[in-house]
Amino acid sequence: MKWDLTYLFPTEADFEAAYQETSATIQTLSAYKGLLNQEAKFKEYFLTQKHVLKLGYRAYQYASLSSDLNKKNQESAARLQKVQIAFNLMSEICSFEEPELIAIGQERVLSFIDRNPELEEMRFRLVKLFRRQEHVLDDVSERLISNFNQLVGAGAELYSNLTVADVQNGDVMLDDGKLVTITNSNYRAFISKSKSPRERKDIFESVFSYYDVHKTTYAGIYNTVLQADYANMKARKYASCVEAALFNNAIPVEVYRSLASVARENTAPIKKYIALRKKFLKLKEYHTYDRFLPLVKSKKEYEFEEAKKLFFKSIANFPADFQEKAHEVLKDGFVDVYEADGKRSGAYSSSTPDLHPYILLNYSKTLDDVFTVAHEAGHSIHSMYAMENQPTMLQDYTIFVAEIASTFNEHNLLDYFISSSKSSKNEKIALLQRTIDDILATFYRQTLFAIYELEAHKLVEDNQPITADILSKIMIDLYKDFYDLDITTEEVKPYVWAYIPHLFYTPFYVYQYATSFATSLKLYENVKNKVPGAFDRYIGLLKSGGSEFPVEQIKKAGVDLTEKEAFLAVAHRLGELVDQLEVVIGE
Ligand SMILES: [Zn+2]
Repeated sequence: MKWDLTYLFPTEADFEAAYQETSATIQTLSAYKGLLNQEAKFKEYFLTQKHVLKLGYRAYQYASLSSDLNKKNQESAARLQKVQIAFNLMSEICSFEEPELIAIGQERVLSFIDRNPELEEMRFRLVKLFRRQEHVLDDVSERLISNFNQLVGAGAELYSNLTVADVQNGDVMLDDGKLVTITNSNYRAFISKSKSPRERKDIFESVFSYYDVHKTTYAGIYNTVLQADYANMKARKYASCVEAALFNNAIPVEVYRSLASVARENTAPIKKYIALRKKFLKLKEYHTYDRFLPLVKSKKEYEFEEAKKLFFKSIANFPADFQEKAHEVLKDGFVDVYEADGKRSGAYSSSTPDLHPYILLNYSKTLDDVFTVAHEAGHSIHSMYAMENQPTMLQDYTIFVAEIASTFNEHNLLDYFISSSKSSKNEKIALLQRTIDDILATFYRQTLFAIYELEAHKLVEDNQPITADILSKIMIDLYKDFYDLDITTEEVKPYVWAYIPHLFYTPFYVYQYATSFATSLKLYENVKNKVPGAFDRYIGLLKSGGSEFPVEQIKKAGVDLTEKEAFLAVAHRLGELVDQLEVVIGE
């Protein structure tokens, strides 16, 4: 039930030796500056880099996993920082690489690869570099721009200072007279347990009023983020901010726009679901934060061994090698199961090229935890396929495809639960709510924020002003369209744009939750409906790791994201589930 990190390094001394070798080898890379146009040096440089990465990643994995086991341990924290510093140094030392390669020219650089098969795994990275070169400026301009890097990142830093460091938590008096401190991380749990509309309102406002009080500052900070994106767009000659953000992974802007329009136009099932909830929970008014209320209370507990067994049963019809991998990734020593003092919260699967992936859980025996096991196993299985089928440098896959294998397993596990006759009415309601809420949170809510980002950037591109009221107006309209809820009746909700960190830290990021979800659902439905070759194509996607542009990988697996079909399928699925819920509730 605990990680066995001796798989990575048998002893601390072995880690230390690997770290020393990594650091020393990184230093040697600077000697290649100005020499990359010589084929022999070019080859040596890339093979050295590969060696450093292979060794360095293993050291990083070891340091990062051990630090996550106990965040209070200073020694582990220092060990992790040491490795991070080495990697930062490497990117500093290698910063000559891109301008130098561009100066040498695509034809000559790729001819080096053609003549040296052992460099083949570097080709995709170079293809990406040359694809980007029309947006790379001359030396002087690049240096000039880099002087402003700190300023460009100021929005994210100010946001974090105001929201994390300076935040003040408020207290709320519950109906039973108990005073509780409400924080950004515990407020949902308090709302979900509350039977009192007054309590729920106070709990919610206790978190969101902070954004109201600081709305002008937040709008100013967000404007900094927008202006930085706009300046980058103009300097690098992109047609729009969204195009600049999607360019690196070659995601067509059309994918983003079609996701946005399909989600916004297909919201009938959401409205029906909210009406069902309101009636079932006997609520006089329905507020955005009432979404945290469970329809039924499930007391059923699932031991970890049982969760594994349920997941294995759910994939019993999948090909043997998929099942073998599922067992392999959940093997003893590679899953750290239970909560512990100082252990990192949440759950993840951590993969590193050429190494067995590790899963971290904080397993507490709930139904959600069972799904988390299937989810994280999906990530690890994906990494296993990539590891077996791709060379070191092409195993790591993009965020755009990362959530496919994980949610694929969840769709399948849900179907297994629902079809298993043993589920009681309450369990069925709990399962359906879980799935519906998941679609709302992952597909619809993220798309709502994605549209907000598009519209806010558009304002700046059109030289329009940005104020708190203007940003809130976008959200008010979107909540009306998506949920048919008038958020102006909740005094502080219109400032939801200030509440979402991703909008400040990584613009144009959240849409990928929705595209990943739509892709996995479509792939899953193809498999379920026994479309010939569907499973093989899905496995092909997992095997391809990070060897191609993501939209191409997905297309080969059978889903064309430039068409609306996959997004419409999510809306259709939601409609089915809400209808099913209506039937089960009425039984
Ligand atoms: Zn995940």
